[in-house]
Amino acid sequence: MATNEKKRIEIPVKGMDCAQCATHVRDSLRGVHGVGQAEVYLGAEKAVVEPASDGFDLAAAHKAIRDAGYEVGEKGAAAATVTGSNRDLSKQVTYLTGALFLFVLLVAIVGEGLGLFERLSDRMPWWIGLLMVLAGGYPVFKSVAKAAVRRRIISHTLMTLGVLAAVVVGEWITAILVVFFMRVGDYVEQFTSDRARQAVRRLSDLAPQTARLIADGAEREVPIEQVAVGDHVIVRPGERIPVDGTVVTGQATIDQSAITGESMPVEVEAGSRVFAASFAHLGSIEVETAQVGDETTFGRVIRLVEEAEANRGEVQRFADRFSGYYLPIVASIAALTYLISGNALATAAVLVVACSCSIALATPIAMLASIGAAARRGLLIKGGKVIEVLDRADVLLIDKTGTLTLGRPRVTDIKTLNGLGEDTLLTLAASAEWFSEHPLATAVCDAAQDRGLELARPTDFVAIPGKGVRATVAGQQISVGSQRLMATTPSTEADALAAQGKTVLYVSADNEVAGLLAVSDTLRPEVPAALRQVRALGIKGIELLTGDNESAAAGLAEQLAIDYRAELLPEDKIAIVKEYQQQGHVVVMVGDGVNDAPALAQADVGIAMGAAGTDVALEAAHAALMRDDWLLIPELLEVAERTMDVVRLNLGFTAVYNAVGLGLAAFGILPPVLAAAAQSLPDIGILANSSRLLRQGASAVE
Ligand code: ADP
Ligand code: MG
Repeated sequence: MATNEKKRIEIPVKGMDCAQCATHVRDSLRGVHGVGQAEVYLGAEKAVVEPASDGFDLAAAHKAIRDAGYEVGEKGAAAATVTGSNRDLSKQVTYLTGALFLFVLLVAIVGEGLGLFERLSDRMPWWIGLLMVLAGGYPVFKSVAKAAVRRRIISHTLMTLGVLAAVVVGEWITAILVVFFMRVGDYVEQFTSDRARQAVRRLSDLAPQTARLIADGAEREVPIEQVAVGDHVIVRPGERIPVDGTVVTGQATIDQSAITGESMPVEVEAGSRVFAASFAHLGSIEVETAQVGDETTFGRVIRLVEEAEANRGEVQRFADRFSGYYLPIVASIAALTYLISGNALATAAVLVVACSCSIALATPIAMLASIGAAARRGLLIKGGKVIEVLDRADVLLIDKTGTLTLGRPRVTDIKTLNGLGEDTLLTLAASAEWFSEHPLATAVCDAAQDRGLELARPTDFVAIPGKGVRATVAGQQISVGSQRLMATTPSTEADALAAQGKTVLYVSADNEVAGLLAVSDTLRPEVPAALRQVRALGIKGIELLTGDNESAAAGLAEQLAIDYRAELLPEDKIAIVKEYQQQGHVVVMVGDGVNDAPALAQADVGIAMGAAGTDVALEAAHAALMRDDWLLIPELLEVAERTMDVVRLNLGFTAVYNAVGLGLAAFGILPPVLAAAAQSLPDIGILANSSRLLRQGASAVE
């Protein structure tokens, strides 16, 4: 999934309020010459276009968006912060509209009940009625006409027919009120999508816009786009770190919660790695830039969250398909109603009672809110599909090294076997491990460093996944790794060390075993509690899969009361995942995301641990934990469960609502005015229900 390597063009799109809007824009863009791929995101209000090799023209893409009936926004404008006063104003407008809505609704109910409307309609000159309908419904009629030109029927088309029916029978007041409620419905829908976007927007608002660049000894504030890799920037107390990089000088206490979700401050000093969007509380630091903008961990997270929408699950695809059939169904019911009863008003009521949008909105609103809120707590979820699958998961497979253990392993024993000195053995081994990113390699190199040993730069380095490394060091062929990497039988010394639960690394020079290194690592302290919660959340099978030796695995598995399989190669892990899947299980796999990437990808949901700063992990997994905290795993499962509960309720509510509404309208029980008024209720219900997800755990960041 190396999407970031392809050329992609982002275009902000304005004015998309319903789920179908995004589909319209997408289809329109896909029809443009030179467009290879196009995806449109309702939540992030943007289109992403991947040009095919031959002649792509940005102006043509802009035109396609406008032709579809939407506007092209300005780059960066979407991220603009909503200021406090703006928010207050929109709140007041909301209350006012709400009050007006209730007032008109009251008048409508009373008027309808007393039969006032018919009398009023009779007295009103026809041209006043027509004028009011046209003036009030102008934007709606315009979009219907626009869609009609493109031979498309939208839900406004049916409602417009409803208004027309009322006009034909001379029910002017009914027509005017239906138009009014149609507009209110649009407003509610706009408000609903806007609220759902908030979670994503609040995240992208944290993206740094400027940096204090140091150039020629002077300091200058520049837009973030002007910072290049290698540049030095200064961060003062109370500011956000603008780039990913390494601290060169200074000390600071920083809050990395924007990335990790953990608000506990961390101390950084020269040599520490820092991430863009972290917040410096105390102290100033100078940072050498390693990544800027979209390339930073934070930039990647934002992109993945914004684009999670494209990864739809089955539930949403079903809802999307159904909302496609919905308009023809409603049109048929309306036709039947008219044919059977000849009642134009009942027909009008059927046409205006139910907007197809609520069915289409029920899932994405909840997903958007949930994924956005989760990201701020250090949980990256790549789409509704992942949430759906997590909700059904029943097996958890766990990688050991770097996942279950602290990932700070230490060399505890050094055994030389052929007369080499301990230091020489360690020097050779650590030099061979020089380029390896494996936690065990880090342990070996740390041990050499602790003894003050001088390492030699290796040549011909190869890493053999699940086995170890080989390299040429000072003219000798050095191998470091498990016994399987060696042409030797297990030694009794190795067995003794393994029996203590340690990982045993063989070191060989020119194909002869020269010694052993024993490495021990501690279990992350929160794992037992996390696994207990995971079980309570319905995961029945938990199994440890490791490339490490039998005894190390057995000790750990016993401690955690879980199953295990040891001495596995990466391809064995993939085979085990497949085996579970063939038995009908839904498999979640947790790994470090670096050397487990293939197994994570094979799992139904692959979760990468500690993904901050490791691009591979972010790309390979379906979900990622931005900090090394096992308690995030039950939290992730819980988020999925809660989200699916909301989605099911949303869908159930709209389905029942629409069915009842259509029935009452068809039998003439629900007058058109009330039918139109009722049309926006499902949207309000969905919004209220889904905001529960928006609020969850928000305290971690604010
Ligand atoms: P796990 O499945 O526990 O995460 P790995 O698959 O990463 O472990 O590695 C399995 C075994 O392969 C390790 O226990 C070790 O013996 C050996 N190994 C892998 N990578 C290295 C390395 N860089 N240096 C030494 N040994 C290694
Ligand atoms: Mg591992």
